[in-house]
Amino acid sequence: MTREASPLEILFYAEQPERVEKWIRFLRDEGLEFRPVFREPDQGPTGARLAIVWMPPAEIFEKEANLEVVFNVGAGVDAILDAGVLPDNVDLVRLEDTGMAATMTEYVIHAMAEITREMQQYRDAQTQRRWAPSGHAYLEDWPVGVLGLGVIGSKVAQGLAALGYPVRGWSRRQRHIQGVDCYAGQDGFHEFVSASRVLVNVLPLTSETRHILNRDTFRSMRPQGHIINIGRGEHLDEDALLACLDDGTLAGATLDVFSIEPLPADHPFWARPDIVVTPHISGTTNARMAMRQIAAKVRSWRAGTPLGGIVDRRAGY
Ligand code: NDP
Repeated sequence: MTREASPLEILFYAEQPERVEKWIRFLRDEGLEFRPVFREPDQGPTGARLAIVWMPPAEIFEKEANLEVVFNVGAGVDAILDAGVLPDNVDLVRLEDTGMAATMTEYVIHAMAEITREMQQYRDAQTQRRWAPSGHAYLEDWPVGVLGLGVIGSKVAQGLAALGYPVRGWSRRQRHIQGVDCYAGQDGFHEFVSASRVLVNVLPLTSETRHILNRDTFRSMRPQGHIINIGRGEHLDEDALLACLDDGTLAGATLDVFSIEPLPADHPFWARPDIVVTPHISGTTNARMAMRQIAAKVRSWRAGTPLGGIVDRRAGY
């Protein structure tokens, strides 16, 4: 069924109005014709059938009985689902890549090189004007396990494999990715983890994946292991990480996401030489690419053709 070509109203929300202005400009650059509408306090529903949002408050959707599809301007939908603001009958559509996979792969490759080539040691030596070559690093000594083989994780895994690291990947359903040894589900988890010296987390945050990076996981890994977390802060049991670094189970961690963001100034992670902290920058959203993708999906919706990236509410991602 195609949807009529009457003027399309799109409801927009982001905390910063300049963000919304940019989205509207980029959507118009894509040739999409629409009328932006906004929920104002003390006003009735807009009647819009589509919404484009980031971190919306519950009241945005209250009484919007005509709403059919909400586009989330981000890949992760844990915040919007956890907030419980979205009626069940509304389709939630997330961003698929829009440039994030490349920047997140770059982040992980940088972190791997830092770890395997001991780059911090050379920075320290330089401050002392000390010429101190270390032993040769063999890629085969650094088997990497990528948790999550979706739009982003599969690219991260392929990027690492292209460099020659032994790469394993883990997902809910069995995947097949060239150059990556794929494992699936709870049955495959232990074998996957126990073969990995570095774990890179690119999972969505769901009830099944919360605290998946815990003491048992760390103890199952190869010795002298590292954790690279670019998923969500709550994937990581932060106390277990500190305990496992202190007792030598793990050698280090590179963390881009945290249970509380911004990371509080008194958080123990800041002061640790074995933890690299970055402020949730591994995969910044490219707004122009995001709006290009959303414009294409709005056109599909109008034409009545299926949309990619619809969130499976039961699975939580
Ligand atoms: P996708 O939905 O494309 O992929 C998710 C992957 O995780 C799939 O392979 C899926 O398995 C797997 N998965 C989900 N639940 C489980 C489970 N219970 N057990 C095993 N595997 C599971 O997501 P994206 O790749 O687009 O994004 C992944 C996450 O990355 C986002 O949800 C977000 O939290 C995070 N992110 C972080 C950013 C940052 O700046 N740090 C930026 C962008 C995203 P299957 O293949 O079987 O479906």
